Amino acid sequence: MTRSTIKIPTPLRAFAGGLREVAVDGDTVGAAMQELVRQHAGLARHLYAADGRLRSFVTLYLNDQDVRYLAREATPLRDGDVVSIVPAIAGGSTGAGPALPMLTLASAPPPGSSALPTDELRRYSRHLLLPEVGLAGQKRLRAAKVLLVGAGGLGSPAALYLAAAGVGEIGLVDFDTVDLSNLQRQVLYTTGDVGQPKLKVAKARIEALNPGVRVVAHEERLSSANALDVLRPYDVVVDGTDNFPTRYLVNDACVLLGKPNVYGSIYRFEGQVSVFDARRGPCYRCLYPEPPPPDLVPSCAEAGVLGVLPGLIGVLQATEAVKLLLGTGEPLLGRLLLYDALAMQFRELKLNRNPECVLCSPRATQKGLIDYAAFCGVPDGGAGTGLGIPEITPEALRDELAGPDPPLVIDVREPNEWEIGHLDAARLIPRRHLAERVDELTRARALVLYCRSGDRSARATRFLLDLGFSNVRNLKGGINAWADRVDPRVPKY
Ligand SMILES: [Zn+2]
Repeated sequence: MTRSTIKIPTPLRAFAGGLREVAVDGDTVGAAMQELVRQHAGLARHLYAADGRLRSFVTLYLNDQDVRYLAREATPLRDGDVVSIVPAIAGGSTGAGPALPMLTLASAPPPGSSALPTDELRRYSRHLLLPEVGLAGQKRLRAAKVLLVGAGGLGSPAALYLAAAGVGEIGLVDFDTVDLSNLQRQVLYTTGDVGQPKLKVAKARIEALNPGVRVVAHEERLSSANALDVLRPYDVVVDGTDNFPTRYLVNDACVLLGKPNVYGSIYRFEGQVSVFDARRGPCYRCLYPEPPPPDLVPSCAEAGVLGVLPGLIGVLQATEAVKLLLGTGEPLLGRLLLYDALAMQFRELKLNRNPECVLCSPRATQKGLIDYAAFCGVPDGGAGTGLGIPEITPEALRDELAGPDPPLVIDVREPNEWEIGHLDAARLIPRRHLAERVDELTRARALVLYCRSGDRSARATRFLLDLGFSNVRNLKGGINAWADRVDPRVPKY
């Protein structure tokens, strides 16, 4: 019997006893995966559909090869092989291949023109010393236009370094205001900026760093209606979004417009980076044809993220953007870089073009943008609430708790969040333990579930409704709304 190791990604570890990797016996990838599911039954529904087939958003690698391009689950294993489950997180061929053509900039630098102004020669002197950049490269950067989708954890470091490097025009898409909880990682903003529109602050910060940079603020949510117009003027798009609908939207718009998409994503302690360019490699959909179900991969707002992680991933994205603009080096085309901050490990997986890709293959069936919220199963275009789930407002819960027949209040967050603060009346049952502890709940008594902001508890409410609980409601806005509207002594976070 062949012995191999299966690497478990962070979102699935909760269903594998917290393990990072599991040793399994099995002569093929499929047999090894079956053995994994036998050892950890909780993984089954995340990995396999009801008909027993692997779910389409589960991508398996044998060592650094995508098994879809080997023999899929029939791919034979040898002792010591490593099988990686690579999930999509809130997202070829290089090396031996021919040299890549240089990116054509939307507005090319004037040919054979004179040197840069004196102050720019000083500012960029360390670039000018590099033969790979030099005067010609610096002029290309100055003529270039880069769009950053999202001015948050990834967009902040990317924007700062692209501005410092002398990229002539930086577009920013965001519609948020600065929140105190952003400052742990979003280094564009300072404490005094809390409450201000992000783009107003970002523009001032970038122009202070480098007055030679033009900042174009797109203060709107990117949508199927505006994405093509917003992206069209730019040479390179840097995807720093935090949700799947926008990620697929950015990918699809880039494919349709023929633009490179510098992809970065983060989850707790892990990041992914790649460069998608359908003209010369795979696109995001080649890697993940479909998004994971909305409750499998929580957002950073739900799951947390190490503050320095987006710093590193955003700088990697900025590095790839600069390389693309300069036409130098080996871009991360057809390669997925995985970073694990806890292990301090980088791994690289090969990405292939999917010959069946609905978007970028010769057999593409999708010719335009679609409804991405529906595609990703998030009807509100982001928040997971509003799925026809019964809700209760903080004020109404306060009144019911003071009444003759108070509901049982269940806190579905994690113990570390419970420690920050909780409702006096609540009992802690983390959502991931709800299935096994459901017997502690009585169907006779009214139940109210809450989490931080209402998303996770909405899904937990849905779970209990599906089990036949009829009198269960979700606390609208979570404990943060309770703190705002009922009890200011409860800390918000
Ligand atoms: Zn594709």
